[in-house]
Amino acid sequence: MEKQNFYDLNFEQLKTFLIDKAAVDPKKAKMRSQQLFNAVYKKNIKCFKELTTFGADLRNKIEDLISLEKPEIVDIQKSKDGTIKFLLELKDKRNVETVLIPDKSHSKYTICLSVSVGCYLSCEFCATAQISKKLVRNLSPGEIISQIILCKDYINDWSTQKKITNQVLMGEGSPFLNLDNVKVAIDNSKNKDGLEYGRTRITISTVGISIKKDNIDAIEWAAKELDVYLAWSLHSSIPKHRSELMPINDKYSIDTLIPQLKKYYEETKLPIFIEWICLEDNMTIKHAKELIKIMKKIPSKLNLIEFNPLTNKNFKPASKEKIDQFSKIIQENGFLSLFRRSRGRDINASCGSLANKKSVGNE
Ligand code: SF4
Repeated sequence: MEKQNFYDLNFEQLKTFLIDKAAVDPKKAKMRSQQLFNAVYKKNIKCFKELTTFGADLRNKIEDLISLEKPEIVDIQKSKDGTIKFLLELKDKRNVETVLIPDKSHSKYTICLSVSVGCYLSCEFCATAQISKKLVRNLSPGEIISQIILCKDYINDWSTQKKITNQVLMGEGSPFLNLDNVKVAIDNSKNKDGLEYGRTRITISTVGISIKKDNIDAIEWAAKELDVYLAWSLHSSIPKHRSELMPINDKYSIDTLIPQLKKYYEETKLPIFIEWICLEDNMTIKHAKELIKIMKKIPSKLNLIEFNPLTNKNFKPASKEKIDQFSKIIQENGFLSLFRRSRGRDINASCGSLANKKSVGNE
């Protein structure tokens, strides 16, 4: 019988598993789950034999039933700016990438997590889309959260003062097309006996997918169930132009998404981050004016992201003058606009660059 992967279960699922499969007394299941979460997510045990607080019987049972298997790091690339990119091999030999982005002091990091192998959304500026026009498969909850564990191991980040301070689900794939698994990974990231990240330390991204989940809009569901920052990859405020950059715009328009994003804010009280890759042709005065109309409707902040031309030669990066002018218009209208320099360009780890030929080449 195949073992249950520990990282695939959230706290409640683990409790149920212990009662149903390991015959743990229901009255003790919460305490046992807390001990297990603490041992794995805080003390970083590598094997259940290290569970000294458990009697031999229960310890052996857990060892027989549950595995701590994780993907394997098969390649590591380091950028001269300190960014580290990991190529991971999954159980089925497919690959995904994870990136650690350092702050200026190089002592704290943001981790950029992937949620699927390949992506079918075909955003024109994205390297994942250039290689894969299809979703090969979603990552399991364990494959998502294991990316954090592996990186914590690599930089020895197991003291209470975290080195990896922030998580962004902005690597390969769209979190809104893998919501159930993303939820388990975020539950375990936020759980006080788990990795214990605050809600404002985690950001999920969306191109804007207006599907239903449990009979409500998925964006509203995410506000209630995930309760973390939401980044909306907008990239153009002019519908026709946005459709050229992101074909998903034909299916879920800006106007459809605005009320849902507003609800996200109302539920979480967290502003929406509007993501905007700085291209030559999406930073005109007309774009800025249309963007201001959108920002007036949704409490939001603008993140301008430097474009890495290596990912797609069909696009030109915006000039510094253009970025400054665009940013000034936004700020003069009372909105916050931040410019994020592209990191890890020399190792193709910058925004929109994650794609490994191995991950889809074997399909
Ligand atoms: S930007 Fe994100 S959603 Fe768009 S194709 Fe790339 S991975 Fe998919």
